[in-house]
Amino acid sequence: MTIEMTIPAALLPEDGRFGSGPSKIRSEQVDALAAAGKTILGTSHRQPPVRHLVASIREGLAAFFSMPDDYEIALGNGGASAFWEVACASLINRRAAYGVYGSFSKKFAQSAAKAPFLEPPVIYEGEPGTCRLPEYTEGVDAYCWAHDETSTGVEAPIRRVPGSVDQGALTLIDATSAAGALKVDVRETDAYYFSPQKAFGADGGLWVAVLSPAAVERAERVEQSASLAGARRWVPPFLSLTTALANSRKDQTLNTPAVATLVMMENQVRWLNDNGGMAWATARCAKSASLLYSWAERSDYATPFVKDPAIRSHSVVTVDLNDEINASQVVALLRDNGIYDTFAYRKLGRNQLRVGVFPSVEPSDVAALTQCIDYVVEHL
Ligand SMILES: *Cc1c(COP(=O)(O)O)cnc(C)c1O
Repeated sequence: MTIEMTIPAALLPEDGRFGSGPSKIRSEQVDALAAAGKTILGTSHRQPPVRHLVASIREGLAAFFSMPDDYEIALGNGGASAFWEVACASLINRRAAYGVYGSFSKKFAQSAAKAPFLEPPVIYEGEPGTCRLPEYTEGVDAYCWAHDETSTGVEAPIRRVPGSVDQGALTLIDATSAAGALKVDVRETDAYYFSPQKAFGADGGLWVAVLSPAAVERAERVEQSASLAGARRWVPPFLSLTTALANSRKDQTLNTPAVATLVMMENQVRWLNDNGGMAWATARCAKSASLLYSWAERSDYATPFVKDPAIRSHSVVTVDLNDEINASQVVALLRDNGIYDTFAYRKLGRNQLRVGVFPSVEPSDVAALTQCIDYVVEHL
């Protein structure tokens, strides 16, 4: 049964994009593309105009993260998913331990499990909607988890596993839907990596990583050992972190990047820093998220999916609906009214709404969204 419904215009948000990635791209970012029209788009990424963009992104992110002087920003093609393979090829020496509590944290662990030159990963697994950090484990040289588990809306603490530094282990954090939206001290990490299509409101296709000196040193050692005769490990150039880093230091990428993505990301990083950087961005996301969680707690048909308020994400908010209300139908009716991508992560299989509240999203639009959901549910 298809039903039609028109939400009164007065209730609608100004911008209806609430995706958890790809996410809202601000119109100023699109204007920046138009301005880059004949001078940057369609020109060589080896020449100064595009290299200046990359330099601005790297410097802007260093400022945003208050990055220690000896940390570096590297980038390459392929998105965060590609960085999982980079980490398997270039960062994990023998064996890694994982916190797994949703689809994204699981995927990286599965990559490590399939790498024939690594020992099987040690997996600390928690139910969706909870958080499970890896624990200190003998013989492990990397600890991996996700700052924000995008499939469930769980925000994990970012603190090194006690004893991990003494055992020489790295901390590798998937920050794809966290970076730019959630508070972090990157000193607690060795690789804090992400893609541009979440909080940075650009298109996908790139990975970006904040790297510690220990991560750089590890990649050099691992890749050197892989080049020895008889080594089992294969580090293809595309997955070589040292190669990515050598290019990044020249404000380039190994192969051709999407220049439009760089233009939009550069604009967003400058916008975040001009408005007050991490403190501003994280407060704005926290405000948007709390509008949704408090609405759900007041509602008689909606409930925050994540039970523990301490691990409720401030960038991706998940809300379960009562069984009498069909979430897919609500999502479809919202879409008919220009409110996009409020669906739950498919494989989670819950009667749920999921809302990306990245910095580009106006908190006032989040408030409007809650009114629109109420309107739809009342008129079903
Ligand atoms: C979106 C996402 C990814 C995948 O990013 P791609 O750019 O599509 O590779 C990985 N991890 C998390 C936590 C994500 O949210």
